[in-house]
Amino acid sequence: MNRVLLMSDFDGTICSVDVGDGLGARFAAPEWRDIDRAYNEGRIGSRLAYPRIAALMRGLTRDHLLAFALERARLDPGFPAFVSFCRERGYDFMIVSDGLDVYIRAILEREGLADIEFYANAVSFPEADRIAFAFPHANVRCGKCGTCKTGLLARQRRRHDLILYVGDGHSDVCPAQHADGVFAKGILREKCLLNGTPFRSYRNFTDIQRILAAAEPGALGSIWKDGLEEGPEKGERHVSGGLI
Ligand SMILES: [Mg+2]
Repeated sequence: MNRVLLMSDFDGTICSVDVGDGLGARFAAPEWRDIDRAYNEGRIGSRLAYPRIAALMRGLTRDHLLAFALERARLDPGFPAFVSFCRERGYDFMIVSDGLDVYIRAILEREGLADIEFYANAVSFPEADRIAFAFPHANVRCGKCGTCKTGLLARQRRRHDLILYVGDGHSDVCPAQHADGVFAKGILREKCLLNGTPFRSYRNFTDIQRILAAAEPGALGSIWKDGLEEGPEKGERHVSGGLI
């Protein structure tokens, strides 16, 4: 059987709350919304946006960030079962996030899912009121996103025959164009419609599991053969879609 990889975004996708958006609103001066707007309009990428927003933040420590994220974070209720489903089927699973490693690790640990492989931007707090970022998965030739999800996807081509992508936001648009199949909601779904990228709509991981379970294990690629489709999300308003 072909080797299958499910690759998923975190904020707004696995985690139903956008932690990054909340951090800006809680800890940054109001000007952070101008930066967030520039990001949402595609004028700047997250690699520029993060340090600019950090410069507007006061009083944010590592402990604050963790307490804030853990208090707000709610996982998609169907996500743990979906991870088990992937393991039973022999599908590999990994998280690719343009969010921050500190809170993703903490949330996964709390949920007993610390063994999931994930890639994200790195944040540290070298001194009071100074937040430092590192972008270990950036694409130096592009420079737009902190985490280049497309680069991470391309690297997996050597080990996988079929790569399916799950996402909801701006940082998912590029990798979705390089995946073999896309599950999309929110902004990603709108962009897939605009770009002509075939996708299946989903509301949560229970939807995705149902779609995958209904397909012949050896013929997952055929799920997308009909191209664009209207799914359960039609007419619904998507509330996420900020920086992360
Ligand atoms: Mg997202």
